[in-house]
Amino acid sequence: MRFAKLLFLTALTAPTFAQTAATSEEVETVYPDAHTLYLDIHQNPELSSHETQTAAKLASHLRSLGYDVTEHVGGTGIVAILKNGTGPTVMLRTELDALPVEEKTGLPYASKIHTKDDSGRDVPVMHACGHDLHMAALVATATIMAHSKDTWHGTLMLIGQPAEETISGAKRMVGDGLFKRFAKPDVGVALHVSNESPAGKVGVGSEYRYANADSLRITIYGKGGHGSAPNTTIDPIVIAARTIVALQTIASREVKPREAAVITVGYIQAGTKNNIIPDHAELGVTVRTYKPEVRKQVLAAIARITKAEADAAGVQREPLIEHYESTDAVYNDPALARRLTSALESALGKEDVLEVDPLMGSEDYSYFIEQGIPSFYFALGGAEPQKYAQAKASGETLPSNHSSLFAPDVDPALHTGIAAEVAVLRNLLNASPEELHKSASEGSGRN
Ligand SMILES: [Zn+2]
Ligand SMILES: [Zn+2]
Repeated sequence: MRFAKLLFLTALTAPTFAQTAATSEEVETVYPDAHTLYLDIHQNPELSSHETQTAAKLASHLRSLGYDVTEHVGGTGIVAILKNGTGPTVMLRTELDALPVEEKTGLPYASKIHTKDDSGRDVPVMHACGHDLHMAALVATATIMAHSKDTWHGTLMLIGQPAEETISGAKRMVGDGLFKRFAKPDVGVALHVSNESPAGKVGVGSEYRYANADSLRITIYGKGGHGSAPNTTIDPIVIAARTIVALQTIASREVKPREAAVITVGYIQAGTKNNIIPDHAELGVTVRTYKPEVRKQVLAAIARITKAEADAAGVQREPLIEHYESTDAVYNDPALARRLTSALESALGKEDVLEVDPLMGSEDYSYFIEQGIPSFYFALGGAEPQKYAQAKASGETLPSNHSSLFAPDVDPALHTGIAAEVAVLRNLLNASPEELHKSASEGSGRN
């Protein structure tokens, strides 16, 4: 039966015309290897910037398919290029890294890996963000593209990016000459699996996909003393408490109601003992926005309110605001999003392409966009469809990415990921660079 099916598949694969949808036979042919690779990577996760085995596995698969592979780009990153005549250069990116999370999914292939983190602590490691699925899909897509060179023309540039979870790998790859030593893509593409939609579907959207993220450390100074004699002190804890409450008025009172802004104080640290008023208090703040002008407005308001609260308490020393980390929003080029949404609809069926809301998470893929690569970043459904329906009905939420229980429904999600990537790549690699530039510049309404 299996043999007969294989013969049948061989006869149907290798399409001879410029179709964009992968045939289901093409996907089925590569699927068993993709699934094996998924299980292998899932059981051998590596932390950010330490993805040496993972990168080597991808490199060897891609090399055996005929890609020109370069390793150690920006640390453990890889670049794999397949040239196929004249045409545009299209980049597809996967991340390589896993997280210090102990897997509790109970799956037979659950990760049992422990390692030392950068500070020398023993930590469990898990592909809790689903990057293992992205890698398996990318290698399977690479296989289909290498075996169907009559369906596209141009240059396919696949990259395995390290250290996405620490928001540093994209910048390091660019710094290591990603777009100078290799090629500057006309268009870039990436996807991310999550439980926000059911496996078997993809989620698309125009403009913002992920948010600007800014990390602030705020030190509020006071004047310490005895807890029984507050009159001899300026209590930084009280100032911090007032500041936290006042910061909440930025999103609710200052930002236009239809604009998005999140200000979260994730920690407050102050003091050592109940009867001592400390000298200072520290707040850790994350700020999420989409539009640059809203980002500017919110950051300025945080500085203004923090200073004014300290001033109101009579503190001489201005609070210290350290802006120690930031990532820009991931922006989907509108014309490109329109073009690829219809490519996905015709490949997967309209009912399997959902319009999804942008997320307030952050992603350093934005660093590639900043280098002038118009991009399309889409969502891949990961939730087991029945569980998804039950959760929707009961109002519960399924485990999110980074949860120790995060477990995508691999078969439908991986099948769909491969089919979607092939559809998108073939669509782009049947256009001329001029056509892609034109549609991208027409659509760029970003300010
Ligand atoms: Zn993640
Ligand atoms: Zn991720």
